[in-house]
Amino acid sequence: MPGNTHQPATRVVHLTAADQTTGAIAPPLHLSTTFERDADGGYPRGFTYARPANPTRALLEQTIAALEGAGAAACFSSGSAATAAIFGALAPGDHVVAPQEAYYGTPTQLTGWFARWGLRCTLVDTSDPGAIAGAMTGQTRMLWLESPSNPRLRICDIEAACDVARRHGALVVCDNTVATPLLQHPLALGADAVVHSTTKYISGHGDTLGGAVALRDPGGELAGRIFEQQAQLGAVPSPFECWLTLRGMRTLALRLRAHCENARRVAEFLSGHPAVTATHYPGLPTHPGHAVAARQMRDFGGLLSFEVAGGRPGAFAVIARLGLIRRATSLGSVESLAQHRASQEGPDTRSPEGLIRMSVGIEDPGDLIADLRQALEAAP
Ligand SMILES: *Cc1c(COP(=O)(O)O)cnc(C)c1O
Repeated sequence: MPGNTHQPATRVVHLTAADQTTGAIAPPLHLSTTFERDADGGYPRGFTYARPANPTRALLEQTIAALEGAGAAACFSSGSAATAAIFGALAPGDHVVAPQEAYYGTPTQLTGWFARWGLRCTLVDTSDPGAIAGAMTGQTRMLWLESPSNPRLRICDIEAACDVARRHGALVVCDNTVATPLLQHPLALGADAVVHSTTKYISGHGDTLGGAVALRDPGGELAGRIFEQQAQLGAVPSPFECWLTLRGMRTLALRLRAHCENARRVAEFLSGHPAVTATHYPGLPTHPGHAVAARQMRDFGGLLSFEVAGGRPGAFAVIARLGLIRRATSLGSVESLAQHRASQEGPDTRSPEGLIRMSVGIEDPGDLIADLRQALEAAP
């Protein structure tokens, strides 16, 4: 892989030096579950068995670590498994401060599975450093952040939040899935670890599930607990999934340019449309987090949401009329997806009933806007 002098858009294309044994330019797919030992019992190439480490997964981990400016990374079988590995690195009785508005599965893990397991949590508005400070207790071991957040693209000032956490001796972990490592570097802003659902932009084609944790300090206690969970609990991705993720990742910079440009065009269209009561996109100057996002992100990403009148039936009626934009959950793939977030999340949702979340794909932006226009303007 090219060194630190190259820009991330270059590094993500040139993932690896040519394969040592064959000269292959494209990354090889290593399916072997086991690796040969020397006659004296050693493992001279560093690989023993595919659960603790596999060469294809190792390349993915090195690539994600390099892009995040991390000391190391660990891949998991899903973004949710990566999140669980972070909370699983804490001890029963520890307290976590996390955002009120975040990917639904994150507070659900904290208030469900990990509450039974003995973790305690307080959910606050993490866009307010004062609210974070007010939630810190003597047992607070971790602050979880997600910026931009789901589903209203709320922005947290990561540097200010990290300052508060550091004063209280708490670790900071940031879910960087929506921004991607090409648009935002939480570790450079003070976070200790970054979590990704690689299912989304990093793999980018909606055909593989995966997650990753990138760690500032590869020798620290948190890193040790994360690697221990990979090796002992085994929620690791298969080599083929790692290979698919690497395959998709090589076009990450190119895809993101189209996602960001299309999202900007779609957000501008929606924010000027009379049937839309609110448009949530941090690239809009009217968004409450715009100034902070402009400071801590290179661009504003491909995810947005908007609200229409008429609550749940009003939102369902608009989604039902979409033709090109597909009705499905998830985000970060090449095709545009729209969903009614509240009904996806279930009874405890904080998502407004009239809210539609849209993952803006890489199609022609004029086609996307035409589809939205006819869906918003058709007689109900
Ligand atoms: C999808 C997602 C997750 C969970 O990842 P999975 O790969 O679906 O388990 C976590 N955080 C964010 C922001 C997500 O979008």
